[in-house]
Amino acid sequence: MKYDLLIVGGGPAGLTAAIHARARDKSVLVISNDPLASPLSKAPAMANYPGLPGVTGRELLERLVEQARNLGAEFRQGRALSVMPMGKSVMVSVENDAVEGRAVILAPGVSRAAPLKGEAELLGRGVSYCATCDGMFYRGKPVVCAGDAPNFGEEVEFLRSIGCEVTVKRLAGLSILGENRVTGVLDAAGEATPCEGVFLLRASIAPARLAPGLELENGYIKVDAHMATNLPGVYAAGDCAQGVNLESGEKQIIGLWANANRQGAAAGANMAGGEARFEGNILHNITHFMDMDFIGFGDNRIQGEPLEQGSLEEDGLYVRAVISGGKVVGANILDSYRISGILKNYMLRLFAGEGGSLPDYQRAMLLQAGLRAEFIDRMEVMTRG
Ligand SMILES: Cc1cc2nc3c(=O)[nH]c(=O)nc-3n(C[C@H](O)[C@H](O)[C@H](O)COP(=O)(O)OP(=O)(O)OC[C@H]3O[C@@H](n4cnc5c(N)ncnc54)[C@H](O)[C@@H]3O)c2cc1C
Repeated sequence: MKYDLLIVGGGPAGLTAAIHARARDKSVLVISNDPLASPLSKAPAMANYPGLPGVTGRELLERLVEQARNLGAEFRQGRALSVMPMGKSVMVSVENDAVEGRAVILAPGVSRAAPLKGEAELLGRGVSYCATCDGMFYRGKPVVCAGDAPNFGEEVEFLRSIGCEVTVKRLAGLSILGENRVTGVLDAAGEATPCEGVFLLRASIAPARLAPGLELENGYIKVDAHMATNLPGVYAAGDCAQGVNLESGEKQIIGLWANANRQGAAAGANMAGGEARFEGNILHNITHFMDMDFIGFGDNRIQGEPLEQGSLEEDGLYVRAVISGGKVVGANILDSYRISGILKNYMLRLFAGEGGSLPDYQRAMLLQAGLRAEFIDRMEVMTRG
């Protein structure tokens, strides 16, 4: 079956893209390691998810998967190993199979694995990313396996079942030896192991290796405002893709679920024939635990004068804003749920360069919670410019 859209990665970016493409009635296949294994599943609680304050990362992922499934998105659990644009379609290999789509969205999150010494040079000449795909070439021969793929154990067992002599090594510090073909590996402790094949079974594949020819900038996938990459029919969204810091105008990685969601929504809508632009995001992080909100805004490289409200020694609200060039350029807010939402939304507008005073009732709530009128006035003056 040829799908309208293939999505590589079932994190917030990929799942949101699936939801938006299904809303436009496109057939969608999400190819992913277990979506509940996204790094977001480790977030204890998120204060910034609209309508679900305090939702855990895992719960959020479960709901996104359920929503995408209920809307008709199909799921295929496994690692995508390569993405090949072929004119009017794109082929994605998933373990030892291939699927076809009219377009693909790359949403595999951050690839934390640095390439190993010798990996690029010996890829296809003894280095492989998939045991079930290439194992037969090494039947009865010594091979090394290393990696963190969820199906690592199964891949090793498969190689053993076809008679390979398998040595398992840690990825960190591994070097691959050989001139034109793999002859062995050297591990971090300096121990050499002769072998004919090296299976690097990582949970994620670096974007440039996943889709050869993909244009990167500072290690992240270069995208336009429609989330399209330089390859035809290939979009990207989320932690793998470049974002725009609306405050500084700089292109950089944003690394937040909210950004992943918005980029995924734009990519999903665009590939489905919509016209959605992603202009950028404000750097911010919101965490909630132990009955406290911790909110940070802004680019921590920007220096300035502090404007403080409250004290770290006292209970209650504490705000420390950084002022530069007459504008708020950064802020940390500690609060126990009372008014951090109002402040957060106001500061997001401030940082995006949008003017406007606080509505009267919100100003009254800030005053009631103990914020000084002088502090609010200074922020409002700065908003008006
Ligand atoms: C501990 C922790 C706490 C966090 N807390 C917050 C928070 O409070 N607020 C916030 O905004 N952000 C938070 N983040 C950041 C947030 O998790 C990320 O920004 C977000 O998950 C990025 O979404 P994504 O869809 O781009 O990628 P991911 O969530 O990384 O999802 C990518 C998915 O694709 C899969 N995959 C990768 N490569 C392949 C492949 N080749 N084939 C198949 N599947 C593949 C991965 O296994 C994963 O399941 C936190 C992150 C961590 C680690």
